[in-house]
Amino acid sequence: MNSYTTQMDAARKGIITEQMKIVARKEFRPVEEIRQLVAEGKVVICANKNHTSLDPEGIGSMLRTKINVNLGVSRDCKDYDIEMQKVMKAVELGAESIMDLSSHGNTEPFRVKLTTECPAMIGTVPIYDSVIHHQKDLAELTAKDFIDVVRLHAENGVDFVTLHCGITRKTIEQIRKHKRKMNIVSRGGSLVFAWMSMTGKENPFYEYFDDILDICEEYDMTISLGDACRPGCLADATDVCQIEELVRLGELTKRAWAHNVQVIVEGPGHVPLNQVAANMQVQQTICMGAPFYVLGPLVTDIAPGYDHITAAIGGAVAAMNGAAFLCYVTPAEHLALPNVDDVKQGIIASKIAAHAADIAKGVHHARDIDDKMGEARQKLDWEAQYACALDPNTARAIRDSRAPESDHADTCSMCGKFCAVRSMNKALNDEYIDIL
Ligand code: SF4
Repeated sequence: MNSYTTQMDAARKGIITEQMKIVARKEFRPVEEIRQLVAEGKVVICANKNHTSLDPEGIGSMLRTKINVNLGVSRDCKDYDIEMQKVMKAVELGAESIMDLSSHGNTEPFRVKLTTECPAMIGTVPIYDSVIHHQKDLAELTAKDFIDVVRLHAENGVDFVTLHCGITRKTIEQIRKHKRKMNIVSRGGSLVFAWMSMTGKENPFYEYFDDILDICEEYDMTISLGDACRPGCLADATDVCQIEELVRLGELTKRAWAHNVQVIVEGPGHVPLNQVAANMQVQQTICMGAPFYVLGPLVTDIAPGYDHITAAIGGAVAAMNGAAFLCYVTPAEHLALPNVDDVKQGIIASKIAAHAADIAKGVHHARDIDDKMGEARQKLDWEAQYACALDPNTARAIRDSRAPESDHADTCSMCGKFCAVRSMNKALNDEYIDIL
C-alpha cells in the first residue's frame, strides 16, 4: 500500500517513486532534482495507477521536450485497427504521448487496450466521449454526466485529461463583444461553450473542479488545462480572450496543486513568430512554471497541406522559450483525419522541432547524437549516418534510389566526384584527388 496519492504528493513527502527514478535515468539528472521539480509542479510525471504498460516520462521545460500524437476514430473514419497501427507507428517513431480523441462508437475497449498495451502516456478529452458514452445530445447532458466520464477515463488508466475548465459564462460575453475572426476553434472548448449557451448553466468543469480534483488525486490522473480560447488564426493571437482564460488557468493550477494534483497548461494555437517567445514567458509567469503544452504554434495561416512545417517552426521557438510538450500537427491539419503517412510526417516534424529546441536550451546530452552524425558524415560512413537519423528508412531509400556510380560509391549523387568531404579527406591524407 503506497503512503502517497499522486507523484506530486510523494514528492512533497520526500518519497522517491519508481517513476521518478526512471525519469531521472532517462534525463541524465539526479533523482532528488526530479523529486524537487515534481513537488514544485514544474515537472509532471503523468502516470495513472491503472496504466499498467506505461514507460513513464517527465514533462518540464528543463527536460527533453516531449511530443504528443492525436489519434482516434471519428464518425467518418471509424476503423479501430487502423488507429492501433497509427499508435504503434507513433511509438516506434518516438512519440512519448498518445491522445485518444475518439468520438464515435464504443470508445472504452480501445481506451483500455491503449492503457494495457501502450507504453506511451495516454491522454483523452472526456467531453468528446460524453455524448457517445451517455448516448445523449449535448444539451441533454448534465454536469454529473460529464464528471462521470472523467471518472470512467480515470478508472480506465488515462494518464492525463484535457478539461476546458478556464472558460466561464463570462467568456460568452467576451467572445460576443470582441468579435474574434475565428471565435473558438478548440473542439472541446466549443462544446463547453455550446453547452453553456444552450443550458444557461456555468461550465461544469469549472463549477465542479473540486470534485474533478478528488478523482484525479485518487487515480493520479494529471489535468491538462485546456485552452478553449486558443487563437485559431494569427489575427486572434494574444488577444484578451486568450489572456483572460490563461489567468483563470493560473488560478486553477494553484487549486490543483493544493490537492496534490499534477497540472499541464495548454497553449496556442496560431501565433505570429514574433509573439511566440512572449506567449511562453507570460504563461510561465501566470502559471508559476507549470509545464506548457502547445498546440503548434502555427506561425502562418496559409499553408494547409504543410501545417506540420508551420507548427514545427513555431514549436521549435516555443520549446526553446519554455514550452515542455509539443502536440504534433500533421499535413492533414484543417483538412481531414490524418492517415498513417500524415501521422508519420507530423511526428517527424515535431521531433525535429523538439530536438532543435533541446539543443538550443542545453538539455543534458541532447546534442550527442548530432555530434555522432557529424563524425559519420566526415567519414562518409553511411550506415553510421542512418543509425543517427530520425528516420533511417527514408534516408536510406533516398540515397539508394539515386546512388552514385561505383568508382565514387562512397559519396552521394549530389556532388559525386566533386564531393567536398571526399576531397578534403584525401587532401588531408596527401592522396591524389581524381575528379574526371
Ligand atoms: S557528395 Fe556532396 S552532398 Fe553528398 S556527401 Fe559528398 S559533399 Fe555531401
